[in-house]
Amino acid sequence: MISGPSGVGKGTVVRRVLELDPSLYYSVSAKTRAPRPGEVNGREYWFVSEEEFDRMVERGELLEHASMFGHRSGTPARPVEVKRAEGVDVLLEIDVQGAAQVRGRVPDSVLIFLEPPTREELVRRLEARGTEHGTDLERRLARVDGEMAAGERFDHRVVNDEVDRAALEVMAILHGYGHTA
Ligand code: 5GP
Repeated sequence: MISGPSGVGKGTVVRRVLELDPSLYYSVSAKTRAPRPGEVNGREYWFVSEEEFDRMVERGELLEHASMFGHRSGTPARPVEVKRAEGVDVLLEIDVQGAAQVRGRVPDSVLIFLEPPTREELVRRLEARGTEHGTDLERRLARVDGEMAAGERFDHRVVNDEVDRAALEVMAILHGYGHTA
């Protein structure tokens, strides 16, 4: 699992890791928000309605789920189980609440916390990203300290100072657990 505070660049590092190592299976999460420009259903996320999400929760179809910024995200359990049964290592990009849930249910999971070089840099990246404004941006900023503190409980911490370097460090960590590309 790769986690870390909002805006740290999890998505970019995950994409780079998947380019470097196509043998990893990327778990596509369910999300209740609308797609942003350029996002494709089934690629970045499965975009579902609140009702569909409720149904997934009720049926026990999610390995974990969490609320964030007025919408919900969750990991469909079945694809993760199928891939793991096939011996394929699965990569999750997930928020810190979800990571804690998966840790409780999947004892051999590996938690990698991606952190910014400094808190100031994270705030700058969140503002520069320009995908959120006003209250949404403020809410993300308000969560930063709690999310940064959550890093203490992770198995590994990687500083996202440079995408390629951070992605290679993630790969090295996975290899340390016996993952082979
Ligand atoms: P976005 O900016 O795409 O609206 O939200 C990204 C946030 O959702 C990130 O913090 C990311 O880690 C989190 N996220 C994405 N997929 C999942 C998931 O399946 N479960 C949980 N708990 N968080 C997720």
